[in-house]
Amino acid sequence: MTKHISRRHVLAGGAASGAALLAGAGSAGAARRPSLALTGVTVIDATRSRPRPGMTVLIAGDRITAVGRRDEVPVPPGTTVVPLAGRYLIPGLAEMHAHSIGTERISPPLYLANGVTSVREMAASAVVSGWRDAIGRGRLLGPRWTIASEIIDGSPSLLLTPDDPGGAILVSDAAEARRAVRRVRAEGADFVKVYSRVPRDAYLALADEARRQRIGFAGHCPDGVPVPLAARAGQRSIEHVHTLWCATSGRDREVRRMLDGIEIEPGGYAGWFRRFHEVEWLASGAYSPDRAAEVFARLRRHRTWTTPTLSMHLIVDRPEKLSMTDERLRYIPAEDREWWRWAVENIYLPGRGPEEIAQQHELFDRRLRFVGAMRDAGVEVLAGSEAGFIYAYPGFSLHEELALLVRAGLTPLEAIGAATLGPARFLGVQDSLGSVHAGKLADLVVLDADPLADIANTTRIHAVLAGGRLITADERRRMLADVERAAKEPAGALPAAAVGCGCHAPRKAWPA
Ligand SMILES: [Zn+2]
Repeated sequence: MTKHISRRHVLAGGAASGAALLAGAGSAGAARRPSLALTGVTVIDATRSRPRPGMTVLIAGDRITAVGRRDEVPVPPGTTVVPLAGRYLIPGLAEMHAHSIGTERISPPLYLANGVTSVREMAASAVVSGWRDAIGRGRLLGPRWTIASEIIDGSPSLLLTPDDPGGAILVSDAAEARRAVRRVRAEGADFVKVYSRVPRDAYLALADEARRQRIGFAGHCPDGVPVPLAARAGQRSIEHVHTLWCATSGRDREVRRMLDGIEIEPGGYAGWFRRFHEVEWLASGAYSPDRAAEVFARLRRHRTWTTPTLSMHLIVDRPEKLSMTDERLRYIPAEDREWWRWAVENIYLPGRGPEEIAQQHELFDRRLRFVGAMRDAGVEVLAGSEAGFIYAYPGFSLHEELALLVRAGLTPLEAIGAATLGPARFLGVQDSLGSVHAGKLADLVVLDADPLADIANTTRIHAVLAGGRLITADERRRMLADVERAAKEPAGALPAAAVGCGCHAPRKAWPA
């Protein structure tokens, strides 16, 4: 079936990543003779509410050149036919909140094997930038990457200790914030990553400078900045639920006072985390539908997207439920596995009595309801899982996020949209990605079962196409076996991607 898959396919796929991708759809593929024909497949994407059964999809180089019924789209002689009757075709998935781990032999293949063909990396990483370059040169097979700046935080920062001055840029005032934006712009960041402790004045200056420099900014809504103000200031996406629901509380003055009263030590992530949990409990317990309606309207009006990262919250809210014998641990390098276990045992589990456990379980149910309310109000939601965070297995964890989004109230098609067309629109690449249409890049996932019948079926992956490069079922199995082997090797020349988000217990702050 795949005898004509050549090295040319690999190169064509790789060359379309990165900057070339952001330039928008080209037409080079359209003029070329198709090399692949996917036939008899049911096409599902978020541009239509109904699946399209019995479709033929022609692919030339890295592009889709035609999609239609058999009688509409004849297969030219010499085209390699991939018969897919009984199977389902969805656009390649985008992981919109990642902190990739391991080496180039771990995260890039794990994403692709799981149908993740685009990744938004939420903190600058020289390692990940290196992977992106290698993918762009056709040396490495992997997803398309959008990569954040270094994290910009206030001072003191949650992330840094006096012993560890790396990993974030600290800003105390407007001038420093503007300098930081200009610096990360010059360094080539795709967007500015803003973090929890940036003071309000510095934040507003950062927003203004980002607009002047024509670079987007996204991340946490800082503790000192109400969500409606962040939306008006132009923050492109707000990550996690905890930063979102403070403004939707009927006791928002009290919530605001608590937030303003949080003082931290340098690197004081754990202390901040505990204080913030109290704020969340109070805020969500007094959830006000009226206030929420105002906040949601503001988010819509300013086109502010949200990335709830429910899978991350599930890990943190219910750490006692984590499996220490999960079979996917075989894909995780030993040093990361050790760190994950250490972090759970030393940061997330201690001090949790029955009352706190019950409270945090209730908090997670409230998060689901909150995301359902945002969905009902038409707030734009992105699927991001905090991949690479403890027990968030790169590639796999996005599927957990999709399932959680459905539990929260999205339809399966809406959840798929939050990982396909939504990210493409968010990134401004909807001409090239996000749906199964002629002219778009051939980033596609073939499923063995209907994802609209059960969102868990997104995990039943038969094959993946990355920029027109077909990864067959056999090759996919080999990729996973290679990752397993690579994970057993001692950490070598390539360091693990440094800090986690910093969203939760950045690795360097609590050495294992
Ligand atoms: Zn993060």
